Amino acid sequence: MPEEIDFARRLAAFRAAMAQGGNLDGMWVTNPTNMFYLSGFSGGTAGLLVTQENAVVVTDSRYTEQARLEAAGYRVEQHGTPVFATVKSLVDEFRVGRLGFEKQHITYQAFEEMSAALAPVELVPTQGIVEELRAVKDPQEIARIERAVALADEGFTYILSFIKPGVSERDINVELEFYLRRRGATAMSFPSIVASGPRGALPHGEPTDRQVQSGEFITLDFGVLVDRYCSDMTRTVAVGKISEEQKKVYETVLAAQLAGIAAVAAGKVGRDVDAIARDVIARAGYGQYFGHGLGHGVGLNVHDAGPRLSPTEQKTLPVGAVVTVEPGIYIPGWGGVRIEDVVVVEATQARVLTHSPKELIQL
Ligand code: ZN
Ligand code: ZN
Repeated sequence: MPEEIDFARRLAAFRAAMAQGGNLDGMWVTNPTNMFYLSGFSGGTAGLLVTQENAVVVTDSRYTEQARLEAAGYRVEQHGTPVFATVKSLVDEFRVGRLGFEKQHITYQAFEEMSAALAPVELVPTQGIVEELRAVKDPQEIARIERAVALADEGFTYILSFIKPGVSERDINVELEFYLRRRGATAMSFPSIVASGPRGALPHGEPTDRQVQSGEFITLDFGVLVDRYCSDMTRTVAVGKISEEQKKVYETVLAAQLAGIAAVAAGKVGRDVDAIARDVIARAGYGQYFGHGLGHGVGLNVHDAGPRLSPTEQKTLPVGAVVTVEPGIYIPGWGGVRIEDVVVVEATQARVLTHSPKELIQL
C-alpha cells in the first residue's frame, strides 16, 4: 500500500502561495496534473475552484463519483453545459473578486467563455504556482519515484540477456515493455527509445525494424509509471567488439555524467551544473555533438516541474528536487551515447536513485 499523501498540507501551501503571489481570492486550476497534485482527483476534467475557505472539484457526470472517492476534503459539483455557468454560481457564492487561472492550460475559446460568463470577476493569468510547489518532492513522492526507478533498473538487467546481433530494435522494445508491465508498471512513462548503430545519433530515435549488428552501440531510454510517478533512465551498451573511438566517446559521456552528478547539490544554479558536465564533453572535442540540456525534473510527469539543468536555467536547485543527469554525444551518420540517472537533490550532494551499472557493457 503506497504511503499516504498529505493533500491537506498541499492545499494549505497552495492557499498561501495564492495569497502571496497574486493577492488572489481564488484559483481555477485546469492542468490535470496540478488538479491531481492538489486533490487526488485523477479524472483530469474540468477544474478545481480553490479559495481560502473552499475547495471544489467541478466535473461532469462521468467523474462525480470518482471525485468523491478520490478528493477527500473537496466538495464535488457536477457541471452542465456550459461549464462556466457552474463556476459562476460558485464564485458568486464564495464572493470571489480576483480569480487566478492557469494561462498555460486553458484554450483561447475557454478563456473567451470564462470572460463572458464570470464578469465582473477580475480574471488574473498565472503561471507556475502549483508547479513551484511540485518542484520540491515530499518523502512520499520520492518513495514512489524510487520504486519506479528500481523497476526500470530491473528491466534493464533483464533486457541485456535479450540483446544480440540480429534482434530488431522493435523486438527489444516490446520485450522490455512486456517485462515491465508484467512486473507492475502501470504504463511506460513515455514512448521508449531504442536506437542502434547510426540511429544512436538521434537523441529521440523510436524503435524500428532495424536489426542490431555486432560492433554497434545501442541506446535504451525508457521509464515506467508506478503509483502515478515516473522514472526515466538511459543506458548505452555495446554489442560485440567496438572501436577505440567508440570507447573514447563512451568514456567521455560517462565522465561528463559523473561530473554532473558530483556538481548537484541544493543551492546550485541549473546552468552551472550543466556547464560542468558540458565542459567535460567540450574538452574532449565533442562539444558540438551535445545539443540538449543536461537534465530535467521527474515526478508526476516525466518532464516535471522545477529547475532544469540546462545552459539557460538560472534557478537554483532546492532540497527535495528530483532531476535527471543525462549528457550525450550524437555524431550524425556514426551513432551516439547517452547515460541518464535520476537523482534526488540533497543539502550537499545528489543521491543517485538509478543503480544500473554505468561501466561500458559489451554484450
Ligand atoms: Zn530518458
Ligand atoms: Zn530524461
